[in-house]
Formats: sequence, C-alpha cells, structure tokens
Amino acid sequence: MSQMLIIGNLYKRIDLNDYFNTKRFSSSREGILSIDNNIILFCTLEKSLKDKQFHYNDYFENDFFRWDSQNPQHINTPMIQKMVRGEVDIYMFCRIFDKIKGRSQPFVYCGLLEFSEHFENTSRPVHIIFESIEYQDNPNLKLKEIYDWRPSGKRINPKRKSVSYKISKRKKFSNLNNVGNYSIDHAQIRERLLRNLNYTCQGSELGTGKCDVQLKEHPEWLYLHHINGLLSDNSPSNLRLLCVSCFQRQPLNNKIKVPPGVIHEIDRKRAKISSDVKKRVSNKNENPYENDLNEIIQTYAVNRAIKVYENSMYVVNKVSSDNKFNLLCDKKGYQSRKILVKGSIESGEVVTLNKHEVISARDQSSITDLFIVHSITVEKVDNKFEAKGGTIKHLQNWVPSQDDLTPIQYNYIVP
Ligand SMILES: [Zn+2]
Repeated sequence: MSQMLIIGNLYKRIDLNDYFNTKRFSSSREGILSIDNNIILFCTLEKSLKDKQFHYNDYFENDFFRWDSQNPQHINTPMIQKMVRGEVDIYMFCRIFDKIKGRSQPFVYCGLLEFSEHFENTSRPVHIIFESIEYQDNPNLKLKEIYDWRPSGKRINPKRKSVSYKISKRKKFSNLNNVGNYSIDHAQIRERLLRNLNYTCQGSELGTGKCDVQLKEHPEWLYLHHINGLLSDNSPSNLRLLCVSCFQRQPLNNKIKVPPGVIHEIDRKRAKISSDVKKRVSNKNENPYENDLNEIIQTYAVNRAIKVYENSMYVVNKVSSDNKFNLLCDKKGYQSRKILVKGSIESGEVVTLNKHEVISARDQSSITDLFIVHSITVEKVDNKFEAKGGTIKHLQNWVPSQDDLTPIQYNYIVP
C-alpha cells in the first residue's frame, strides 16, 4: 500500500489510522471526525435505504460539494466553526453505497475541501457548500461516479438553489500544484530508477536538505518527482527519485499527507548515515573523542552567530554553560535577545534540544532566536580539526511548538 492519500483511491476507515497517527478510525463510525488540525468527512451519498429524511443531500456540483451536517449541528458548533475559519484541513471521503450485497464498501478519497458558504436559513443540520480545491479534471472511474452522482429528483430540496453562480478559486491552485496525469509508463520508469539508484533518495540534489537515505526494504516510500510539475514530462532532467520526506518538502507537493511514523523512520535512517560519516571522520584521524569534535562544531557555529549579531549592531555576550541558551544580545532601544545556537554536520532539519532550552524559549517574558549552522564539514589541518562551511538557518522570535517536539528519552520510575 502506498503511504500517501491518493485522490481517487479506495480506503477503508481502518486504513486511515496510519495516515493520521491515531487509532480512532478503528472504533468510530462517525461521519465527521476531528483529529489534531484535521477534519475528516465520510459521506455515503445514497441514503434512500437508510433514512427517509430528504434534507440529507450530500453531492458534488462541479468543483463544489454540498454537505449537510449531522442533525444536532449548527453553524456555531465548534467543529463546524473550525472549518468555517479555515483552521483545519478538511479531508473528504465519499462512497455511493454503504453496503453492496451485504459487504461494507470502502470510500473514495476526494481530496481536500475548503469552506465556501453556508445557507443562512439552515440549522440542525446546517447546509454547507465546500469548495473541492483538489477537484480532478480527469477523474478515474471511481471518482467520476462520485462526481456524477445526484440524489434522485424528488429528494432534492426545492429550496436549494444551484451553486452554478459560484466561481471556483481552484484555478489559482493550478499554477501551484502538479498538472496533468502520470504517463502510462510511470511505474516502469520508477522501477528502472529504483534499480539504477539502488533505492537511494536523490533529495540532496534539490536543495531541500541533505538526504541519501537508502530504502531497499521500503521501496514504496520512494516517489518519482517531476521537477517542473508536469506529470507527463519524463525527461531525465525533470525526474528525481525522492523519499516521501523529501518529496513532501518540494513546493508542488506540500499538500501530500504522509504518516508521521514513516517520516520518523526516514529521519532515523538519515541520522544513521550521518553518524556513520562521523565515525569515518574520527577513525581516519587518530581517534579524537567525539566530544571534542562536537565542541569544535558547536564553537564554530557560535562564532558564526556572534558575527551575524555583531553585524546587526548588537552587543553580544557569551553565556557560560547554564544550558538554556548561548548568547545574550543587547542593542540600545531594543529588547535583549537570547540566542540558542546549534551546530551540526547533518542537514539541520532536526536538532536536539534539552528540557531547559525548551522552557527558556517558551518563556514569554523574553525573546529567543534559534540559530542553526547545519551541513558543517570538518577537516584536519596541521594535525588539528577545523570546522568549515555550513548553512545558516535563523529562526527569529522562536517558540518551539509541541507538535514539532519528539521525545527521545524518558525518566522511568521503576515500580
Ligand atoms: Zn530523501
């Protein structure tokens, strides 16, 4: 099974646990589910067998999807309000029948929706029009059935006007997202590239960070990326084989949903590559302690940060080992800034923070900047190690959010 949600593909509820990093799909039969910053809508279009209430009319009208909430909901229900205010990504799953010959039917993934308007005179249920921002011009057969489905004549509420007056915003998206369809030989081209590259990600070539992760045991995590966004353009200069983590960081693919577990596993493999490199560096050179090496890298990064702040006319003070931040920068007429510096030979997408650093950065009474120098190289010059190069990532007014933190150690109270 592919790890991305693909528009037009079939999914059972239980398949979705991995995508949204939850177990709630296993037990829930709700038509609407709120998980983190996502709302997942499940719609069974044909309801005539189930209930006679004609007001449940959910169906596509071109780029728009008309939807009735559950009976008790109204426009001010918190979950509905989240959608109205655009605070959540809305994932749409549809099927025509819930069962065929007694067998429960999977849902077709219809892409993301955005709230467009609600009908003023409706409440409990509230009637909402969503825009289908990933509406497909060339839907596959399953999706076309969903798009084309209409409630039978007498069940359409006569008070409902058509949405044909609405103009889709979708055209705006078309420049941003991939266009066209994959060519017929897409799968073969990918297979060939997998073999030629020995299942190795080419992310490093695209400037989204260093990645040479090899995924022989998970070829399904490697995708064929079309640099210019034209899915039919298979010229070699337009193609790169990317792991899902690199793939979703390409601007054209940013709406793609990847299970967090997969990203963590790829991060882990990447970190292993860098630590192997580190070992090779140290073995080659009379075994300096890894700590020494880390200190050289960190000192180098701190010095780079000092230069940057001094160039901005700050008075820079080094803070001695109190574990919270590295520099305190003052400038007349400005609030002082705490600078946390992280030097790394790795790609800088993940840095390790200790507890004190997180608490300090979250302290609302002061400002913290995170100053990362990543992809630093270490060379031996005249029997001494020297750090060189590296790329600066400078996050000003930085507050680490809980979502971006992964625990890597626990204190366990032994019972
Ligand atoms: Zn990669």
